[in-house]
Amino acid sequence: MTYEKKEQMYEGKAKKVYTTNDPDVVIVDYKDDATALNGKKKGTIVGKGVINNKLTNYLMQVLEKQGVPTHFVSELSDRETAVKKVTIVPLEVIIRNISAGHFASRYGVDEGIVFAHPTIEFSYKCDELDDPLLNHYHAIALKLATQEEIDLITELSFKIDEVLCAFFKDVGVTLVDFKLEFGKTSDGKIVLADEISPDTCRLWDAKTGEKLDKDRFRRDMGGVEDAYQEIMRRVMGA
Ligand code: UDP
Repeated sequence: MTYEKKEQMYEGKAKKVYTTNDPDVVIVDYKDDATALNGKKKGTIVGKGVINNKLTNYLMQVLEKQGVPTHFVSELSDRETAVKKVTIVPLEVIIRNISAGHFASRYGVDEGIVFAHPTIEFSYKCDELDDPLLNHYHAIALKLATQEEIDLITELSFKIDEVLCAFFKDVGVTLVDFKLEFGKTSDGKIVLADEISPDTCRLWDAKTGEKLDKDRFRRDMGGVEDAYQEIMRRVMGA
């Protein structure tokens, strides 16, 4: 099946989405635009779109092999991928293995504390409200998802953490934390959607602790492009 790009459906902070000749398939087109602080900080990371497209597709295929259903259909070009059309469950799922970012600031602890068990948290995907944190009772009260969907999303998220932690460990990278989004296909199946990339994961060099992710952009540390390329090289050997 060849997919033809039709109309632009949506333009987000990092991607554009197009309809295709197949009503159950859309094309995502990854941009180099970078935002942080919920859109208040804007910039460009040259080559990011290509890297995030290829990394996401590679990691989604690793996950599929381990039994995690994803939206991935086929890579069409350096920046474009055909994915199953889904309705995004408006929850951002964050899994943490080590303290960092908002966890460290919210609870007043240092970054780098290794947890005995990974944590999960949800936030309501809503830019106007700055993605407020909520628990699963709130999510159900707001009808963002059902109990069954939240149970499945939780189980899949911890499974994804196990698979990705082992995968990144093999290439000398520590998976500190990451954000996932899930979607519902036209036949009601919950699948992993969105992306898995240095935009959405904290990735530290296992030996030196060097940050190889979007924190370099968020915190004006420099070396942003090099960090993304280094992750690409370790994961895909390219
Ligand atoms: N994250 C993301 N999108 C968001 C918020 C967080 O991809 O809108 C990712 C982030 O890259 C990190 C993890 O989720 O890997 C945990 O982020 P945290 O809650 O610490 O917030 P941050 O400090 O990144 O704003």
